[in-house]
Amino acid sequence: MKLQAEVNKSEPMVRYRGISKSFGDLHVLDKIDLDIAPGEKVAVIGPSGSGKTTLGRMLVTLEKPTAGTIEVNGDQLWHKNVNGSLMPADAKHLYKVRGHVGMVFQQFNLFPHMTILRNVMEAPVQVLGVPKKEAKEQAIAMLEKVGLGQKLDNYPRQLSGGQQQRVAIARALVMRPKVIVFDEVTSALDPEMVGEVLTVLKEIAAEGNTTMLLITHEMAFAREVADRVIFMDGKIIEQGPPEQLFENPQNPRTISFLSRFR
Ligand code: ADP
Repeated sequence: MKLQAEVNKSEPMVRYRGISKSFGDLHVLDKIDLDIAPGEKVAVIGPSGSGKTTLGRMLVTLEKPTAGTIEVNGDQLWHKNVNGSLMPADAKHLYKVRGHVGMVFQQFNLFPHMTILRNVMEAPVQVLGVPKKEAKEQAIAMLEKVGLGQKLDNYPRQLSGGQQQRVAIARALVMRPKVIVFDEVTSALDPEMVGEVLTVLKEIAAEGNTTMLLITHEMAFAREVADRVIFMDGKIIEQGPPEQLFENPQNPRTISFLSRFR
């Protein structure tokens, strides 16, 4: 595992270049260029269906671009073959680049038959080869950090939605990715559980090291946590520091979108 110290601060951590994505005839993303600095927290907002999730899923190699390149920590996620098509990198390379990134989803996707401790230990042991004793210590520390140190032996079904989502966050963090995509992590939760999850995210963001791509409908949260907010709809329509984008948006589409949240 690379240490944070190896990150080159002068280079972007994430570099999308000319990224387009279509699903058949549906053109979802059109020539996106986006750099994210190491440690930067970028919130992505936009209407439903505007390609936010697709943008995030591409960063964790769950979706392949139709055109363009994506680099994370200097490593290309995809390679062009001789015909110019984008190909999955070979297994070894894919393993390396996937180690840079993590994602937390709307639906928490915990392993239902495992205790929450095992849910969090599983990937470090199976994917990184961390010895079990060490993985257990790291998992406990991470679960304590998200306020679930008392629930180690519980199964996901015994936890509330908010608690399950906090387990999912701990599970992503324990892999120590350089970049984490949080995709609408509160939108499947009952309203009374949204706050506890956002609080955990704010704490992680305040620690500073992890580069975060936060896809969200929580405007107050985006405003508080993000260094930069991007409004997109198939392409980047407008971006800037939260104060600027929320208080003085320039593009009529941004203005119209934000007016729904007032
Ligand atoms: P958002 O996150 O902004 O709501 P998405 O990235 O989820 O937008 O989706 C953008 C568009 O792409 C939507 O119209 C969605 O239905 C479509 N889409 C997403 N994934 C797929 C897929 N795997 N196959 C076909 N269409 C998809």
